[in-house]
Amino acid sequence: MSSLPQTEPAFPASHRSRAATTLAAVPPQATASQVWRALGTAGNLRDLYDGGGTTAALDPERLAGLLAVVDARGDNGVTLSVLVQTASALPMLAACASRTGPVRQALEEALSGVSLVALAATDGAAAGSDLTGLGTEVTIGPDELLLTGGKRWITTACEADWLLVLARHRPGRHFTSFTWVLVPATAPGVHIRPADTGLLTGSATGHVELTQVRLPLDHVVGRPGRGMVTFARYMGTERLAGALWTVALTSRVLADTKERLIRRHVDGRPLWHNDAVRQRYAACLVQVRQLRALCESLGERVVRRQDLAAAALLKSAAGLVADPVLAACAQLQGAEGFARDGAQHIRSEAAVLGIGGGVTELVLGTVADNVDTVLAELRS
Ligand SMILES: Cc1cc2nc3c(=O)[nH]c(=O)nc-3n(C[C@H](O)[C@H](O)[C@H](O)COP(=O)(O)OP(=O)(O)OC[C@H]3O[C@@H](n4cnc5c(N)ncnc54)[C@H](O)[C@@H]3O)c2cc1C
Repeated sequence: MSSLPQTEPAFPASHRSRAATTLAAVPPQATASQVWRALGTAGNLRDLYDGGGTTAALDPERLAGLLAVVDARGDNGVTLSVLVQTASALPMLAACASRTGPVRQALEEALSGVSLVALAATDGAAAGSDLTGLGTEVTIGPDELLLTGGKRWITTACEADWLLVLARHRPGRHFTSFTWVLVPATAPGVHIRPADTGLLTGSATGHVELTQVRLPLDHVVGRPGRGMVTFARYMGTERLAGALWTVALTSRVLADTKERLIRRHVDGRPLWHNDAVRQRYAACLVQVRQLRALCESLGERVVRRQDLAAAALLKSAAGLVADPVLAACAQLQGAEGFARDGAQHIRSEAAVLGIGGGVTELVLGTVADNVDTVLAELRS
């Protein structure tokens, strides 16, 4: 059997190996905070951004490398926490931080690994797919902010020091009605409870209640009324990150599945030599390789040009690839797939790739909205 020619790794080894070295010293059961602190202390978080985090511009290749080494630890919850913080919360803070003040403080603390930041958009009062219907309100007074409402299914919430909360400062669905507020998790009136789930437990996902939370005016993140615009810009980076994580996660499970198929014998032959098995497996490889090619071709456009159509393509592709590939791997592992934390469990956890940050159906709608651009590119 001929093998593929060796090529340069697509993602630079230096950043990746630095992060791998950092994480090699972190115990396997470490919490999201412990992993984040280790990465921050070693400078691996600052490494991701142009200017070491002074700008919001994230390097897609470095992000891919970091997510791959975090994913290799096999704790999908912790990876989700790292993903949302690095690709969504930190770029938003960097884009909005002044030279001093709490937003700068939260950014610097997070980059150093000292603090964790949760991004709280999904609201208790509305479907996640109906973001402009959100109910959390901020009153911007002459001297202070007053925040009331609730957020649900927020990654990292239970370990976060800061919550980046999307609120409305006036009624209605117009995109200028929304503002981000930086809330210390210990502020009076903030109550966080863990989400009742057995999936992604390392992600410290929780629900947040905000009851008459009073904060100084400098806790507004960016300008009032710019909340949705800022979110749309940086949601693209999270969507790219979701696609990059899908590549890392599915490749890890595919590699494990191949080893098992080689070891498993039926009628004296390894299952790996069964043609039907090989073809099913190869179809998965093709899908993952296509997704990686999509990441490589669209990554820069998402982070440098905030191309939301490209981000929607990536997010949809990730949602459409993760489930069938992981389902095939789980099936090919037979009963072993049902072992604790086995392939069936991973498959359930990976369903977040088609839910978090926008359900697949919704992002496919965005792809359809951009049909002419996509077709023009395909036909050029
Ligand atoms: C583990 C986990 C972590 C999360 N972390 C965060 C976080 O850190 N921050 C945050 O803000 N949110 C977070 N979320 C929330 C997530 O963003 C929302 O769950 C998501 O936006 C979907 O909202 P929903 O759950 O209310 O589903 P709904 O909006 O109620 O949708 C339910 C289902 O309806 C269908 N549907 C919805 N809209 C459409 C449509 N337009 N067309 C066709 N079908 C449709 C889809 O099948 C969808 O899955 C997290 C969720 C999970 C599960």
